[in-house]
Amino acid sequence: MKIHEYQAKELLRQFAVPTPKGNVCFSVDEAEMAARKLGGAIWVVKAQIHAGGRGKGGGVKVARSLPEVREYAEKILGMQLVTHQTGPGGQTVRRLLIEEGAQISREYYVGMVIDRSKQRVVLMASSEGGMDIEEVAAKSPEKIHKVWIDPLAGLTASEADAIAKKIGIPDGAIMQARACLQGLYRTFVEKDAMLAEINPLVLTADQRVIALDAKINFDSNALYRHPEILAFRDLDEEDPAEVEASKFDLSYISLDGNIGCLVNGAGLAMATMDIIKLYGGSPANFLDVGGGATTEKVTEAFKLMLKNPKLNAILVNIFGGIMKCDVIAEGVVAAAREVHLKVPLIVRLEGTNVDLGKKILAESGLAIIAASDMADAAQKVVAAAKGKN
Ligand code: ADP
Ligand code: MG
Repeated sequence: MKIHEYQAKELLRQFAVPTPKGNVCFSVDEAEMAARKLGGAIWVVKAQIHAGGRGKGGGVKVARSLPEVREYAEKILGMQLVTHQTGPGGQTVRRLLIEEGAQISREYYVGMVIDRSKQRVVLMASSEGGMDIEEVAAKSPEKIHKVWIDPLAGLTASEADAIAKKIGIPDGAIMQARACLQGLYRTFVEKDAMLAEINPLVLTADQRVIALDAKINFDSNALYRHPEILAFRDLDEEDPAEVEASKFDLSYISLDGNIGCLVNGAGLAMATMDIIKLYGGSPANFLDVGGGATTEKVTEAFKLMLKNPKLNAILVNIFGGIMKCDVIAEGVVAAAREVHLKVPLIVRLEGTNVDLGKKILAESGLAIIAASDMADAAQKVVAAAKGKN
C-alpha cells in the first residue's frame, strides 16, 4: 500500500526524523490559511499523489508571497499531473502539502528496500540526491552506497555514520544524519514497510539535516497489524477496478490490453497472459478468482472486466481441481446472462467434472466459443479480439 508524502512525513516525525513544518490542504483557501499559519517568507506548494517525479512534472512550486501560494495552489489542485511514475494518463491532484521552504545547501538520497537474496533490509545512499536518482542508478551506480542491515543489531551508529560520511555529509552534521537514518530504519521495520525513501535528504544553509521528501510503501499482508497505516489509505489514488475487486476478494490488476482474462490460480493466470501475448494478443487484466469462486464472485468478475471500454473479448481459463468445472460453468452462464454479454467469450475448461461443465456451456444457448486447450483458447481469443471470429 502506498501513502502520501505528508503522511509519510508524519510517520517519520514519530521516529525523530526532522521534516519541514507543513499542512495538508484540499482547497486554495486552505492553502493560503496554511501558509499564513506557517509564517515565514517562502513556502512550497506540493501536489500529493501516490507517485514521485512531481517536481519535474510541475507539481512542486516554491512561492515567495501569499498571492503566489494561492496562484500555485489554484494551478496544481485539480491538475492531471503526469510524471515518469504515473503513466501517460497522469493522476488527478486532490490534495496539497503546504510546507515551509528550506534553504537547501546540499541534496542527498537515502532509501531502504528489502533485499530478498540477502534476507536483509538494504540501506542505499548517495551524494547525488534530488530529482534524478534513477539516472544516477543507471549511469553511475558506483555513486550509490549500500549497507545490508543485520536484523538483530539494527542500523548501528557506526554503520550510519560511515555511510553519512561516504555521501559527503559534513562532520558537524553526522549526528543529525545518523538520527535520520536510524529513524528511517525503525519506521521501515516497525511499520512493515517494503520501501522507504527520503529524496532529497537535505543539508540546509544553517547546517540542519532534514527530510524534504518522503515516500513509504507498505506490505499489504502486514496491514492487519497497523490500523494506523490502513487509515492513511486514499482510494482516490488507486485503480477503481482494483478497489472494487478487493471488495469481492478477487485478485485483479488492470492492464492496458483488450482481452479480459478470468482464471483460477495466480500461476495459471500468469501463464494465460503469457500465452495470449505469444499469439499476438494483449491482456486487459490479470484476474485470479481463487479456489472457492462462487457464481456471485464470477458474476462480479465479469462486471469488473466489462467496465473496461477497451475490452474486445474474454477468455475464461479454468482448471478444475478443488473448484469443479460444472460449478464454474454455471457461474459463467449466469454471469453472461446477467451482464448481457456482448463481447465474444472463449472458455477453456479442464479437470474435475469437465464433461458436465462443457455440457452446461453447450446447452446454455449462449454464443460461447469452446476451446480444447490453452493454445487453442489463446489463438481463438486473439482472433476474436481482432474481430476475426
Ligand atoms: P518529487 O520527488 O516528487 O519531485 P520532492 O518533494 O522531492 O518531489 O520535490 C522536488 C524538489 O523540490 C526537491 O528536490 C527540492 O529541491 C524541492 N523542494 C521540495 N520541498 C521543498 C521545501 N520544503 N523547501 C525547499 N525546496 C523543496
Ligand atoms: Mg523527491
